[in-house]
Amino acid sequence: MAKNVSDKILISSCLLGNPVRYDGQSKGLRHPQINLWQQQQRLVVICPEQAGGLPTPRPRAEQKDGHVMNEFGDDVTQAFERGAHVALALCEQHNIGYALLKEFSPSCGSQQIYDGSFSGQRINGMGETAKLLNANGIRVYSELTLEQMISDIEQRLNEKNND
Ligand code: SF4
Repeated sequence: MAKNVSDKILISSCLLGNPVRYDGQSKGLRHPQINLWQQQQRLVVICPEQAGGLPTPRPRAEQKDGHVMNEFGDDVTQAFERGAHVALALCEQHNIGYALLKEFSPSCGSQQIYDGSFSGQRINGMGETAKLLNANGIRVYSELTLEQMISDIEQRLNEKNND
């Protein structure tokens, strides 16, 4: 990761309680550290699927054989890729080195995603946005690895102060 990243953090909009998920719901994550980052105006918010042009609510989508397909069999890969590039552009614009993205999403999942069968089965893998950010040196975390993220950011801050 570049040394001169800013203190901004990219965050999935649904984790902040915004009703942007495919089913029109949110997945608000309550954590004092998130409140603090928000107060400090460090959060840069995105829903990559909306940013890619998809409506809310929208059909469920899962990755399958290198594509993203929705539950009606439509190939929505392009919209997912567009959203991923908007997220990357935001990170570049704000010099962001850390992202907190919703686990299991075909866009935002960083460790596991659904397997493409729409049966609730998960496999190891990354969503389109998480994959692109990770490939560009941005550290991607989820609500399941938030504590690790907090400690990694803390450690980086200490290193910076000791430079
Ligand atoms: S694309 Fe990401 S931010 Fe948008 S609803 Fe899905 S998990 Fe949340």
